[in-house]
Amino acid sequence: MKIKGFGINADALKEDDLGQKKFDLDCLARNLEHFTDMDFDFVEIPLHRLEEISDGSFSPSHIEKIRRILSSFPFKYTVHGPDPLNLKNKEDISSQKENLIKSIEFAHALESEILVFHAGKYAAFKILNSSGSRRQEFSRRTIEKMLALEREMLYTAAERAEELGVTIAVENIQPYLDRSPYCYSELLSLLREQVDAVNHPNIGITLDVGHAFLSASFYRFNFIDEISKTVPYIRHVHIHDNFGRVTKTSENGGTELMAEGYGDLHLPMGFGRIPVDKVLSLLHHCPCVILHEIHSSPKEYTKEALKLTKGILSEVA
Ligand SMILES: [Zn+2]
Repeated sequence: MKIKGFGINADALKEDDLGQKKFDLDCLARNLEHFTDMDFDFVEIPLHRLEEISDGSFSPSHIEKIRRILSSFPFKYTVHGPDPLNLKNKEDISSQKENLIKSIEFAHALESEILVFHAGKYAAFKILNSSGSRRQEFSRRTIEKMLALEREMLYTAAERAEELGVTIAVENIQPYLDRSPYCYSELLSLLREQVDAVNHPNIGITLDVGHAFLSASFYRFNFIDEISKTVPYIRHVHIHDNFGRVTKTSENGGTELMAEGYGDLHLPMGFGRIPVDKVLSLLHHCPCVILHEIHSSPKEYTKEALKLTKGILSEVA
């Protein structure tokens, strides 16, 4: 077995009086405490959406506070970078590049070798919504231009990442009934093409197994074949379960739909329909952390998911 270990995501979000969720140090400490009697090696620390990142998030004193909390727990860490806004606007790109480089430095300060990066959308959802149309169409040429802008940003950031021993792992994302195609990384094949085109050793892929399963059902590609083709690019894995039923953007996270098994549920592995044994038998040689990216679940279920994945990997290794 070549994998580096097993991980879990910290949420670290606290709701303020206006109902806005913000990164909170006490919540982070409570999350880590919650994981201590589980057998995880890594915890993923989130840097949330760009809009929520104030200058203070990257200040040395803030990073030092986070480091102090992390060092009192027996884990190693990975970092989930902020979501970019969109690829359409050049000014956005330059602020995104700046934040991406700061995120790499943040990952390095936490001794993380991985920074998870969400690929750029063709337009931010709020722009798509305000357009009033069901979905916004983009010409092939416009999309090519956006992808070139992103490649330029990724290459510059990868140079800094190389100096610091960090790999930027671009994640595949889930489709939506009313918005897709809204990002090239809904398709693993296009994500591989983009990573090939950037052509830098410090750029790889975060395979999000749950997102790939939803995409396979929406775009009708062969889930296992696509993962198999992606294996040489994989530097990090997000693993979670769902039923392969895609929703609209507005329905994402709706409790009724969740109860009926729709959407990007981020269930503990083994609680949905993903053929986890087939997936893991392809991944055991990848130099990556198998990170359980679960949205609020009872501790027992998380432990079951970890036991399941460890069991399969020890059999196939
Ligand atoms: Zn993910």
